[in-house]
Amino acid sequence: MAQHQFQTEVSQLLHLIIHSLYSNREIFLREIVSNASDALDKLKYLTVADDAYKSISFDPRIDIAFNKDEKTLSVADNGIGMNEADLIESLGTIARSGTKAFLEKLAEDVKKDSNLIGQFGVGFYSAFMVADRIEVISRKAGEEAAWKWTSDGKDSYEIEAASRDTQGTTVLLYLNEEGTEYTNRWSIEDIVKRYSNHVAFPIYLTYDEKEYDNKGKEKSSKTKTDRINAGTALWRRSKGELKEEDYMEFYKQLGHDTDEPLFYIHTKAEGTLEYATLFYIPRKAPFDLYHVDYKPGVKLYVKRIFITDDDKELMPTWLRFVRGVIDSEDLPLNVSREILQQNKVLLNIKNASVKKLLSEFKALADNNQEKWETFIGQYNRPLKEGLYQDYANRESLQELVRFKSSIVEGWTSLADYASRMKSDQKNIYYITGGDERTLRASPLLEAYRAKEIEVLIMDDEIDEIIIPSVGKYKDWELKAVNRSGADEELGEKQDKQAEKEIKPVIEKIKKALGDRVKEVKLSRRLHDSPSCIVADENDPSIQMAQMLRAMGQTEMPDIKPILELNGEHPIVASLKDSEDEERIADVAGVLLDQALLVEGVKLKDPADFVKRMNRLLAK
Ligand code: ADP
Repeated sequence: MAQHQFQTEVSQLLHLIIHSLYSNREIFLREIVSNASDALDKLKYLTVADDAYKSISFDPRIDIAFNKDEKTLSVADNGIGMNEADLIESLGTIARSGTKAFLEKLAEDVKKDSNLIGQFGVGFYSAFMVADRIEVISRKAGEEAAWKWTSDGKDSYEIEAASRDTQGTTVLLYLNEEGTEYTNRWSIEDIVKRYSNHVAFPIYLTYDEKEYDNKGKEKSSKTKTDRINAGTALWRRSKGELKEEDYMEFYKQLGHDTDEPLFYIHTKAEGTLEYATLFYIPRKAPFDLYHVDYKPGVKLYVKRIFITDDDKELMPTWLRFVRGVIDSEDLPLNVSREILQQNKVLLNIKNASVKKLLSEFKALADNNQEKWETFIGQYNRPLKEGLYQDYANRESLQELVRFKSSIVEGWTSLADYASRMKSDQKNIYYITGGDERTLRASPLLEAYRAKEIEVLIMDDEIDEIIIPSVGKYKDWELKAVNRSGADEELGEKQDKQAEKEIKPVIEKIKKALGDRVKEVKLSRRLHDSPSCIVADENDPSIQMAQMLRAMGQTEMPDIKPILELNGEHPIVASLKDSEDEERIADVAGVLLDQALLVEGVKLKDPADFVKRMNRLLAK
């Protein structure tokens, strides 16, 4: 017998699980049954796809039994099984990279979130909530030796040689005080039906049926075995025979989510391509939506046989929040991942699925305001990613993404913006480069406000990157207001006289600022503010340059802004007659720095700004 220490993370995890998921402890059975079902899936696949396994006679099933007197509960499968190395690897370590994040999250929120457990693939350990000791007796398909893994779920586990008649795994729980409620036929049936009813393999429960005489004395006892799950792959059944609850129940099992989904889309295609898909949109975005190593949410089946749940190619990345199943009749069973990626059938199913999802999203936007708001609140950003990545679906996506606006409350669509446009307006205007408050306060909006032209307030970091690449909506160009040419588009006339008058001031300021600016000019877009900065037509904005630099693009050249001045503002006007060079330099510096500050740009030399400001105030 060999004793092994758990990997440190496992010990931590065990501790956390046992102490934090108490109120939801019955999920342990769902986790064990789902492992058994996965093991059956894997072997079933091999017996079809791999010659070495074809000789295994295999009638996949899961068997649950309990013993009230001995306080034990067992779940057995005749699936793929584990050998000694597998046991160490699978039950002694946590190989997945997300584990640390999981631990932190769980520690943060010690009360609930049982759904996190399955997502991180640590489901098995949840059984220690109801057991003092667990034995796993397993024999790997194609091997003779069997192994027994034993642990009390504290720091270590043991592995020794054992025997088992057929391939597969038996998980034997020695129940603790809280666990004894599961040595009961009804509670097991109840839990299996609730969580595992649609597991594709039959689940049997063995129990003693007792008869009592009229004095309450046991008359006879018969051991019986009943099948307790429905076991039809839900997505294969016709919509007509399924009830709302069926879909909801299946989702909880599939998505490891305790919440109900926002909505689902069930499609059965017949004809040239035969397949079924069942997609769910979680009410809340999966916690790993923005992790590089997010777990894909769609499982691939071929003729009901599980193929993979770990293929990110099944959905475009921007739809990674979708949970569900794709089941095809037309794919070969023994497809490798490489073949899958080039497979025409799968590609067609994928394209059709994306189209279907897009049209459902649109229908939601048109017909169900409440759900739509929840949806867009969670998924606006991935949709914007789609706008950037998914050229083929750009038009549909343009109808879905939402933005904030300078004149309407809440979200607005591009279509709604277009419907409010002035008759002579040629462009759709937007402002990027900071948080909502900064953007709304930007002096760049003054002229638009005066003309009652709507500007989209794009405060999402990703906007700055995607919108320039989108370029157009229908016939209208998307134009940033912080570019040098934007004032011309506004139809602001050049005032030759004013320009002549202000020229000397501009010269003074230009001299004072030197190479801190690309240019200084009279503004045609300012009303209240004395100055603003804009980017030259082909330069990235200052904010964008700052962001790229923060993301590690150190090669980024130093982008210089164009400073625009409001000739009518008293501060600017006061420079007309001034020859005091120190004062001119201070005012020029403050005009530039305040314009940068108000756009949310971090000053390179804040001390210089403060010094100049103080000198001016003192005068
Ligand atoms: P997950 O199932 O999410 O990967 P678990 O902690 O529940 O996480 O299980 C860890 C691993 O142990 C599984 O990925 C699988 O490789 C192995 N395992 C668990 N139960 C079984 C079983 N009944 N048959 C074969 N392998 C199993």
